[in-house]
Amino acid sequence: MAGIYVHIPFCARRCIYCGFFSTVREKEAARYVNALCSELSQRREYLQGASVTTVYFGGGTPSRLTLGQIGQVIDAIRNTFGLDDLKELTIEYNPDDITREYVSALRALGVNRISMGVQTFNDDLLRFLGRRHTSRQAADAVCICGESGIDNISIDLMYGLPGQTAAIQQQDLDVATSLNVQHISSYCLSYEQGSPLESMRIQGLITPADDDTCAQMYDRMCTHLRDAGFEHYEISNFCKPGYHSRHNSSYWDGTPYLGVGAGAHSYNCTTRQWNPNDLDAYMTAVETGHPQFELEHLSATDQYNERIMLALRTAQGLNLSALTPQDRLSVLHSAHALIKDGLLLHENNHLRIPEQKMFISDSLITTLFK
Ligand code: SF4
Repeated sequence: MAGIYVHIPFCARRCIYCGFFSTVREKEAARYVNALCSELSQRREYLQGASVTTVYFGGGTPSRLTLGQIGQVIDAIRNTFGLDDLKELTIEYNPDDITREYVSALRALGVNRISMGVQTFNDDLLRFLGRRHTSRQAADAVCICGESGIDNISIDLMYGLPGQTAAIQQQDLDVATSLNVQHISSYCLSYEQGSPLESMRIQGLITPADDDTCAQMYDRMCTHLRDAGFEHYEISNFCKPGYHSRHNSSYWDGTPYLGVGAGAHSYNCTTRQWNPNDLDAYMTAVETGHPQFELEHLSATDQYNERIMLALRTAQGLNLSALTPQDRLSVLHSAHALIKDGLLLHENNHLRIPEQKMFISDSLITTLFK
C-alpha cells in the first residue's frame, strides 16, 4: 500500500494567514503540470512497487487547474504506477471555484472525495482572512458536490480566530453539521512567520485568542461534533462512521507515500525527502532530468519518536504489540507518570491520549521521546 500526494501551488490570491507553499503565478500552470508528469516518471522507483491506494491533490488550490490538466496528472500516475487498487482520490477545492460541470467531470476522472477549505461560515471573518468565498457560497458548494454524486465531502474549519466569539464558533459548528458533509478537519489558527497575519499581530493590530479560549473552543467542537454523529479519530479530524481520510491516515500509520511538486514531501519508512519550495527551481530541475530534493535518513531513534508522535495523534493510539519488546518497555517506562496522572490511557495493549487532553497532546507526546 502506498499514497501519492500531488502539490498544486497556485492560488487566485493569498490568504493573510497562509503558511503553505503557494503562489499566484497561475500562468505557469501548464508548464508545472508537465513537470509533475515528468517527476512522476523520474521517481517511479520510489515506492518500490507498492500498489497505490490513495491519491491526494493538495495545495495551494488544485481547483485552479483545468480539467484537462488534472486528467493529465491522473493519467501520468496511472501509466507510471497503476491505479487498479485505488480506493480514494481526493482533490482540495475552493468553494468559489465549484460548478456542477466541473464536479461531474472530476467524478468521471475518478475523483471520489472533495476537501473544501471553508474555515468559517462568518462573512466578516472570511473577509478578514482574505478568503475569496462567502458563507453562502461555501454552503452551496457542499450541496453542488453532493448533487453531482460526490458522497465523501470534507470541509476545513478554523477556530481561535481573532474576534471569533463562542457564539460565532457555535454558529460555524451548527452550519457545518447541518450540511451533508462526511468529514470535518478543524485547526486552531496559527501565526505563520512572514505572513501578513503575523505582521498584524506584531504591530498590535489584532488580539490573538489566548490559550484558554482556544482550549474551550476545542472542547466545544469535540462535544458538538460527537453529538452530531462524528467520530473524533485524530486530533484535528472528525468523520461520520467509515469516512476517515484514507490518505491522511496513511501519514499517521507509517504507510509510504510519494509527494510530487514544489515543496512536496515523501516518505518511504527509512527516509524523508522534500522538494524545493521554489516554483522555478523545481520546474527547471525536473525539466533537465535532475529533480532536486533534500533527503534525511531516519535513524532508529527518529523512527521510534516518529511512530509514537503519529500514533498518539489518533484516537486508536499506539499499538504496543507492534513495538519490539525493548521499545515497549522504554515507552511504558516514560509513560508511567502520565498514565498515573490520567494524561495517558493504557488499555487493550494500546497507549492513547484521552479526548479531553488532545489539545495539549504535543507536550504529552514529546515526554515519551527517546
Ligand atoms: S487558498 Fe490555501 S494555499 Fe491558497 S493562499 Fe489561501 S490558505 Fe494559502
